[in-house]
Amino acid sequence: MSDCLFCKIVGGEIPSKKVYEDELVYAFYDIDPQAPTHFLVIPKEHIASCGAVTPENSAVVAHCFEVIAKVTKDLGIEEFRVVSNCGASAGQSVFHLHFHVLAGRDMTWPPG
Ligand code: 5GP
Ligand code: ZN
Repeated sequence: MSDCLFCKIVGGEIPSKKVYEDELVYAFYDIDPQAPTHFLVIPKEHIASCGAVTPENSAVVAHCFEVIAKVTKDLGIEEFRVVSNCGASAGQSVFHLHFHVLAGRDMTWPPG
């Protein structure tokens, strides 16, 4: 999607600090970290949010979670939080599906 920030990051038009990449998924550190470790895992394919997941595109979502398990293990992270904001009122600011992975501090519940 031409005017999507994360599609531009996937395409290399906007630089990012890569954590992991394969043919389906890209992971990179958040520009404004909310924890000592904070990276984002995104499908390379443009999907707007969790609310746009369908039987046709859901395999990449499962793959995102495989990547989260692998990357956290590789980084030596055993405890972490995964967040996906869906919609502006839920805190979504970039409308390309992404999973925040946060670690390195105690988390509170419920989230604000
Ligand atoms: P959301 O608010 O949609 O849940 O999450 C979007 C995330 O993308 C935010 O945590 C924000 O800091 C991050 N972000 C926004 N623009 C950029 C950017 O250009 N590069 C990187 N690495 N992260 C970004
Ligand atoms: Zn996109």
